[in-house]
Order: sequence, then structure tokens, then C-alpha cells
Amino acid sequence: MKKKTIGTVWLAGCSGCHMSLLDIDERMLEVLKLADIVKSPIVDGKEFPEVDIALVEGAVGSEEHLDEILHIRAKAKIVVSFGDCAVSGNVSSMRNYLKTQEVLARSYEEAESNDSKQIPNAAEILSLSHRVHPLHEVVDIDYYIPGCPPSADTIFYVLNELLNDRVPDLAVIGGPKHG
Ligand code: SF4
Repeated sequence: MKKKTIGTVWLAGCSGCHMSLLDIDERMLEVLKLADIVKSPIVDGKEFPEVDIALVEGAVGSEEHLDEILHIRAKAKIVVSFGDCAVSGNVSSMRNYLKTQEVLARSYEEAESNDSKQIPNAAEILSLSHRVHPLHEVVDIDYYIPGCPPSADTIFYVLNELLNDRVPDLAVIGGPKHG
């Protein structure tokens, strides 16, 4: 069987889903027998290339995210909505109840962790969209891996099925498990 290619990315997420991906531990060697990981924020920052499988963590919360997910959908044969922020908006979409300016003020002017107490220039930060969207509201999605984060077992199961040209069915492993 020809080796496949995998790309991973995070949009509006916390990177926790990618940490759970790393938790598949030595099973990563089984993945790498069947596929090359040609793009990942853990590995590099190049433009998302053509791939067989794209794992997309996080929701769409900015104009930059929208551009990126449209680009990924055009480049990837299979797009996997990876984790609850991608699947439903989850934590990332909590700001949908607030105005964008309120979110910026809380994050930059009021947050104890920000010494400057200033909202950065627009060129320095993402162009936040008015509303955060789960991926399926923006592009067609082929498969979903729910969980916040998804468990390593769930991630490995889905990846292994896709890499062996099988259709993953989370019911087979007793439904999605959280990490
Ligand atoms: S689903 Fe959970 S772990 Fe994954 S990006 Fe969202 S908040 Fe982080």
C-alpha cells in the first residue's frame, strides 16, 4: 500500500488536541509506517500542502482561519474535524455571547497577565470574526473526532482506520473517549 500523507493544523484551539495526538506514544511508529506527517504546527510553519488526511483542531474565529480552512479543504482528500472546538465550537465559541471589542478589552486591557494593558495594533493580531464557527459550518467535513481533548485511543483508532482505507466507526470502540 502506498504511503499516505497527513497534515495537522490548529485554528481557534488551545493545542490540547495536538497534545493528545502526541499521547498516542509508541503507536506513532505504526502511523509512520503507513504515512508521512508532511505538515504540523509541532513540526514546521510552511503552507499547508496537498495531503491525504488533514486533522484540523479548533474552530474558525478569524478571517485568517477562514482563509486557512478553505485552503486546507482544497488541498486535503479527507478533512477530519479534530476535537470539540472544531466539531461544535466548544470553548472557542464562548465569545459568541460577547462583542468582539469586549473580548479584546478583557484579553488585553484587563487581563492580569498582560503587562502592557493595551490592545495591540490590528496588524499584530488575528482579524477576529464576529462569530466563531465550528468547521462544518464553513466547509464539508469527512470525519469527526469529538472530545476535549479526544483521547489518544480515539485519535489512534480513527487514524489507523483511515490509513488502512477503512471507514472509522467510533461505536466500534464504545463511542468517543475524552483525554
Ligand atoms: S477541544 Fe479542548 S483540547 Fe481541543 S482545542 Fe478545544 S479546548 Fe483545547
